[in-house]
Amino acid sequence: MFQAILLNKNEDGSTKAEITTLDAPPLPQEGEVTVAIDYSTINYKDGLAITGKAPVVRKWPMVPGIDGAGEVLASSHADWKAGDAFILNGWGVGETHSGCLAGHATLKGEWLIPRPAGMSARTAMSIGTAGYTAMLCVMALTEQGVTPESGEVLVTGASGGVGSIAIAILAGRGYKVVASTGKMDEAAYLQSLGAAEVIDRAGLAAAGKPFQKERWAGVVDSVGSHTLANAVAQVQYGGAVAACGLAQGLDFPASVAPFILRSVRLIGVDSVMAPKALRVAAWRQLATELKPEILERITQEINLADALAWAPKILAGQVRGRLVVNVKA
Ligand code: NDP
Repeated sequence: MFQAILLNKNEDGSTKAEITTLDAPPLPQEGEVTVAIDYSTINYKDGLAITGKAPVVRKWPMVPGIDGAGEVLASSHADWKAGDAFILNGWGVGETHSGCLAGHATLKGEWLIPRPAGMSARTAMSIGTAGYTAMLCVMALTEQGVTPESGEVLVTGASGGVGSIAIAILAGRGYKVVASTGKMDEAAYLQSLGAAEVIDRAGLAAAGKPFQKERWAGVVDSVGSHTLANAVAQVQYGGAVAACGLAQGLDFPASVAPFILRSVRLIGVDSVMAPKALRVAAWRQLATELKPEILERITQEINLADALAWAPKILAGQVRGRLVVNVKA
């Protein structure tokens, strides 16, 4: 028996989320592993699933949780054996396949990646999908030739999970990072992660001109909508924007002017279906670049029951950094 969050659909279509006890999973079938989850997380997408604010869950009932870290209990997959330490991010887990806000899970072996040596399950989940996506964004900017010498890099949604870790990675690599936030009272926190300057997101949030004064060599955007459109309009000639999120909105009310007149590159970043080699490369860099004291500053630990209360708060933009869920507490 193990504890889990379970989502069901009410008759009116709303989502019912509760803590429940489930039976231990059966032995894994061909290609599967059964795992003990030590830590999971609450990402923005988990907030959407638990509250039912967007149709993230595609099968009912569903255990949410797009991230998990722990140990393999039993394996029918050639790459895994009992006792192996793993990380799981995405692949539709917590959406179409039972997720990781639970003590145990049955997962496809091909979805797991080895937890880097010396990285605890808790540390892996302090990073989680948000941090791994932040690294994918930084890797995308680097591939586009954005270097610390190119100029300032803007990080939007700065106090959130993606934003906080993007700041820490970029600052650690020597970039001059400008953090855009709706929480100016968190300026000291953002500076402690490495932001050189903190700006009020209000300056980017409303409809702006399609072509604005050049400022950014690169942008990591987890916000979308007008914020992304304004950021693109302010990118220097030949600069690049990595777009991964929609905290302000799914829309992109922009002009092609920055693309056709300044050769600005807009790179889409998806973590859910990213190929395994890219995941492993991202996690290898996360393991070496993120200092433990910075991660501790970013992280709040909660338990499964707390996770229900925190889900609406992450959607309201009220979470600073990362929420790590100790599923056994
Ligand atoms: P968080 O909630 O932790 O961070 C989002 C941040 O965005 C908030 O903290 C807030 O930061 C800012 N924000 C919130 N609401 C608004 C708004 N209305 N207008 C402008 N800014 C706002 O979420 P995550 O960091 O976990 O995820 C961020 C986004 O990235 C989400 O949309 C998520 O779905 C997406 N994502 C996408 C992935 C992918 O694979 N493409 C993977 C992971 C996340 P502040 O107060 O500092 O402005």
